[in-house]
Amino acid sequence: MIVAIDGPSGSGKSSVAREVARRCGLTYLDTGAMYRSVALACLERGVDVGDAEAVAEVARDLTIEFKSEKDAQRVSVNGADVTDEIRTPEVEWAVSPVSAIPAVRETMVALQRQAGERGDVVAEGRDIGTVVFPRADVKVFLSASPEARARRRAVQRGGGNLATGETVAVDAEAERQILADLVRRDEYDSSREASPLRPAEDATRIDSSELGFEEVVDAVLSLSPELRERAERRAS
Ligand code: C5P
Repeated sequence: MIVAIDGPSGSGKSSVAREVARRCGLTYLDTGAMYRSVALACLERGVDVGDAEAVAEVARDLTIEFKSEKDAQRVSVNGADVTDEIRTPEVEWAVSPVSAIPAVRETMVALQRQAGERGDVVAEGRDIGTVVFPRADVKVFLSASPEARARRRAVQRGGGNLATGETVAVDAEAERQILADLVRRDEYDSSREASPLRPAEDATRIDSSELGFEEVVDAVLSLSPELRERAERRAS
């Protein structure tokens, strides 16, 4: 089965998708990490992210692999671990223009569909329900207010985790900066011509601003009897 979870940055879709995959015995696919990997490779190779041809060439040259560990997922590109490097502010600046290039999306979508062919996937991103897997069994569009999303990211960067209740004090200036960056990326991702961020018509919308992590995971599981059965079978 295929579960598609889309939504803007910081809506909590990564943690939710990973947990749904873990509970139901499905493979988690983080498509944002793939676009981030292309952006990182461009920065490392000195490729101008405004040069669509050159960026598309870089995208075609990458072998992106995921390896699941207990609580996290490691990402490697052409054999080198880039899990931490793809989360830097430099990559965050470069990733939106990179992901707006149609030829880059073509390459990434083909890889994502290959992963889907093996079946039993929870994929998260911006265009999973609209473009990558339009016939997904379950489609969710997860959103939250910009303020709630910025707070989550700030806590995450500070080493806390709202999913597990580990909070940390966050610096107000850092949070303001994160909010500005989220709003900038949302605008870019929603207004681009190639696969803009938007909910699929048949997606269930969940607003996580006022919901706890477990509540969001339960809301996703409750959308499909098969997901619920899988989770119950594995829990027993
Ligand atoms: O989800 P994450 O924040 O890691 O995604 C990073 C960037 O990758 C997004 O801001 C967006 O520009 C791009 N992206 C995309 N399509 C996807 C997943 C991510 O364009 N399916």
